[in-house]
Amino acid sequence: MLKNVFVPQEEIEKELSLCHQLRSVIGGGKKAYISTFGCQQNEADSERLMGLCLLMGYGVAEKIEDADLVIFNTCAIREHAELKALSKAGYIRKLKEKNRSLITAVCGCMAEQSHRREKILASYPYIDFIFGTDRVHRLPSMVAAALSGKKQQIYVSNLPHSEFGVIAEGLPVRRESGFRGWVSIMYGCNNFCSYCVVPYVRGRERSRRSEDVLAEVKALVDAGYKDITLLGQNVNSYKGDYSFPELLRRAASFEGEYWIRFMTSHPKDASSELVEAMAENPRIAPHFHLPMQSGDNRVLSLMNRRYTREQYMEKAAYIKDRVKDIALSSDIICGFPTETEAEFDRTVDAVDKVGFDMLFTFVYSPRPGTPAAEMEQIDHKVKTDRFARLSALENRRAEELNQRFVGQTLRVLSDGRSEDGIFRGRTGHNKIISFTLPEGADQGKAAAGSFIDVKVRSAAAYTLEGDALI
Ligand code: SF4
Repeated sequence: MLKNVFVPQEEIEKELSLCHQLRSVIGGGKKAYISTFGCQQNEADSERLMGLCLLMGYGVAEKIEDADLVIFNTCAIREHAELKALSKAGYIRKLKEKNRSLITAVCGCMAEQSHRREKILASYPYIDFIFGTDRVHRLPSMVAAALSGKKQQIYVSNLPHSEFGVIAEGLPVRRESGFRGWVSIMYGCNNFCSYCVVPYVRGRERSRRSEDVLAEVKALVDAGYKDITLLGQNVNSYKGDYSFPELLRRAASFEGEYWIRFMTSHPKDASSELVEAMAENPRIAPHFHLPMQSGDNRVLSLMNRRYTREQYMEKAAYIKDRVKDIALSSDIICGFPTETEAEFDRTVDAVDKVGFDMLFTFVYSPRPGTPAAEMEQIDHKVKTDRFARLSALENRRAEELNQRFVGQTLRVLSDGRSEDGIFRGRTGHNKIISFTLPEGADQGKAAAGSFIDVKVRSAAAYTLEGDALI
């Protein structure tokens, strides 16, 4: 069991005061660069790491080549993401040859895997330190050690994964966007889906205090943020002072125009109370990401997902019925170990029947240390063929489903005018929409971070087009 998950405030204060001391050592003009792979949780961690970097006196480097501190925040969810991070880390040698005082670090989920740490240290001796997902708040100490000449340091928890994981409150955050913000509400996962490394690399589920979450949401709303996502590996098992649906309701209760979203929900835990909260409150964005993973009961059981195809489809139908025009999205793994053609056909059939606005389709990738990696694997070509079939189906279904928006006027959060001269934004359904302004209209009204009404003119599979009503 996890105990004392909160990092003592004195420890946080010590790190923050070290930041101020390091300013004189680091000196002016130095810059930091963080290369982030993987999910929104990593993006949220990188924003806190950059917050600490700024406090230490670093500026933000736009390019890796301009940096004096480089951090790779890695992902272990799929082999592709791991390889990408490692190949980028290899580039660091060239940069170190040019800048002898460059400090380099690797963190994130890959850093939690001992076989990856060994590979990083053996193959990339110029990496100064590696740190685990529960050490983000210790960045100032680690940088101080690197500045004093310590090389190839490893900072990870030595606790077993059943006891591992912390919550560090009160760290500075440097947000990437001025109007879209992430708020982590919990960390880790207890579900142990058989293909997933998250419970091993992010530790046991632990929830932030509701008052801390709500204070962060309110501060974002007060600062003009318009699209706020509550993050967790499985937000439905949030265990703060409130249940997740109640937390969501309260997060959506502040004064002002903004959307609240959440990521991700496990289908077995997505409750009717949550769906009702969405149905009642227009500030809760009408988008539900509900990962199905497979539409076949034997495969779902092998995945340890703990719901059946029938239960999933019933829940999806309920969500669509209760929340008007909701956009439902999902994840599917193609070619899970031992999956037969007939079993995959059932997944294709379920995807067709449910009708997803967006489908994230993955070729199964074995993750060392997970039960599925030990199962009988299937041929890569078979996996990619299944992937292609499912993608073709989804392209058709997404286009069909998007037609429901044609002729509707949607509230759009503008991303402003892109370099190609086109205005784009996102709807509450998280759909990308490009739009034109009426002749002579004040373009400031469609500036990035503004809400505007757009009448949808046409719809393709993953984009809408329309005319702004301003
Ligand atoms: S719910 Fe399953 S897939 Fe999602 S993070 Fe937890 S173990 Fe991984």
